[in-house]
Amino acid sequence: MIDFSLSQDQIEAAQMVREFAEREVYPTIKEFDRRQEMNPHVLPRMAELGILGINIPVRYGGQGFDYITLGLVCEELERVDTTLRVVMSVHMGLNSMGLLQWADEEQKRRFLTPQASGEKHAGFCLTEPGAGSDVASMRSTARRDGGDYIVNGEKMWISMATKAHHFLWFAKTDSSAEPAHKGISAFVIESDMPGVTTGDIHDKLGVRAGSTGWVNCSDVRVPAENLIGLEGEGFKIAMSCLDNGRYTVASGATGLIRASLEASLAYAQERETFGKPIANHQLIKQKIAWMQQWYDVSRLLYLKAGWLKNEGQRNTRETSMAKWYATDMSFKAAHEAIQIHGAYGYSDEYDVERYLRNSRGAIIYEGTSEIHQLMQAGYALGERKDRPLRCNLPAYDPDIWMEE
Ligand SMILES: Cc1cc2nc3c(=O)[nH]c(=O)nc-3n(C[C@H](O)[C@H](O)[C@H](O)COP(=O)(O)OP(=O)(O)OC[C@H]3O[C@@H](n4cnc5c(N)ncnc54)[C@H](O)[C@@H]3O)c2cc1C
Repeated sequence: MIDFSLSQDQIEAAQMVREFAEREVYPTIKEFDRRQEMNPHVLPRMAELGILGINIPVRYGGQGFDYITLGLVCEELERVDTTLRVVMSVHMGLNSMGLLQWADEEQKRRFLTPQASGEKHAGFCLTEPGAGSDVASMRSTARRDGGDYIVNGEKMWISMATKAHHFLWFAKTDSSAEPAHKGISAFVIESDMPGVTTGDIHDKLGVRAGSTGWVNCSDVRVPAENLIGLEGEGFKIAMSCLDNGRYTVASGATGLIRASLEASLAYAQERETFGKPIANHQLIKQKIAWMQQWYDVSRLLYLKAGWLKNEGQRNTRETSMAKWYATDMSFKAAHEAIQIHGAYGYSDEYDVERYLRNSRGAIIYEGTSEIHQLMQAGYALGERKDRPLRCNLPAYDPDIWMEE
């Protein structure tokens, strides 16, 4: 049986987030984008409204909604501004859901619970100045010293670098491991640990109202209790975190397509050329039809990935497809939206120029489009198979999720 309907809870959660984003973020987004600063009101309000723990079980401080609700929430957030969804990608998708999957009970209590309640914010530190797509070439190290690890390394292009309290940090505990990815381990690093320094990158093309920066560790003493999973399991942990982060990127990009479509519909019906609204010209109709198609397909792809998560089924391939398609199409949708707006689309009087700038980064982060193409070809050719993991993302069970 296929059921495409959403529950009342899912619809209401999406509605609540839409109202928050429209009323409390949209009115000042241009100002913060120009200033290249995050609106200080955003994180406290996302915490207060329960958005930062939306799909985490109630017993870990969350709201107990399912994974599809997370997708709907990301769609609503990015419809207003990409920076809002980026918060969810790192705080929820890449970090909190990684802890839900891999951390032990004590670690969940110490790290996940304050994150889900929004008291602490979370980031994800995988990329380094010399290692992006090729994760295994990272140089960050963690050396065991009694009951601690001594962590050294430099992470670059880290979303929420100057806002997060907890970072999921990947470092080599065995630099001579063969293959190299088997020497990577995952740790929670706290931003106030001595030796941790952070900073923001300025003059980015997009997501200017958000924090993207660097995080450095210089001889940071990290208790062994902060090791997530087992030594050498870091690569698998990072990849399963990406299955969740990419889901938020896909659903968010779907929201950006919707924003481009809505802006185009409004403008095309109002602007007249040659004695009629431009919406009556066939070539403009064609752009609108394309945008509608990109939106519908992107939404179906992410909802399917969300459904697989709810069912507890592996979804690496489906999530990668959703992320690749929706991000490529969100860039095309923003490009067509600018074209429909003519010269006005080229200025920040309208939102569409921001949509174009914001859409571009998602084609790079959480797996570039090239990496997703390699993955999809690998699955299709039978060269790539998902091996079972020691810890799986738990299937959604409303009784367990709502339990105090
Ligand atoms: C706004 C923003 C936010 C980010 N946030 C985070 C974050 O929070 N945490 C984090 O860890 N990282 C983050 N990143 C980093 C991001 O994940 C990396 O930029 C990304 O993984 C690509 O790595 P790279 O930039 O080093 O490019 P490279 O890996 O150097 O790739 C350069 C080019 O080569 C291509 N390429 C590489 N390998 C292959 C191949 N085998 N076949 C074909 N083509 C290939 C790539 O597709 C790309 O076009 C962020 C980046 C941005 C822009």
